[in-house]
Amino acid sequence: MSSTEREYHFGIDPDRLGRAASHFARRVARDARTFAAHLEEHVGDFARDVWREGACAWRGEDRGHGEWRPPDVRRIFEDVRGVLTDVIDGIDELITSTFGTPSEEPWTRVVCNREASCGACGAALAAGGEAHVRRTARGTEFRCLACGAPPASAA
Ligand SMILES: [Zn+2]
Repeated sequence: MSSTEREYHFGIDPDRLGRAASHFARRVARDARTFAAHLEEHVGDFARDVWREGACAWRGEDRGHGEWRPPDVRRIFEDVRGVLTDVIDGIDELITSTFGTPSEEPWTRVVCNREASCGACGAALAAGGEAHVRRTARGTEFRCLACGAPPASAA
């Protein structure tokens, strides 16, 4: 009775639980990306507002203080995007530590949302560049496009 042997943990099939957990992680990651895209719009609007307000103030009264320099609004975006990346990584760790990761996900070709390095040749992978990636119980593995994703049998 292999099906009952597998359902040893309160009747929960570990494979099904793993699939549900990775589905959940993917949905969280997708929402985080959507949020990041919206955030970029908001930061753009905010940067325009800051620029307009600052330019008005400069024209009005602060001419004596030299050229007005806007605050680095872009850095706010970079910081918040870093927080989102941490959230996504944190979700992965939470799922891994809570449920374990019974089956490793297949390799997928993605656009990196942060800098990484190829696990095979060690080449640096820039954020925004394409790479092969998979999540495992040990963390996220990367392969550069030159190395490519290893076959499913090679772990
Ligand atoms: Zn490589």
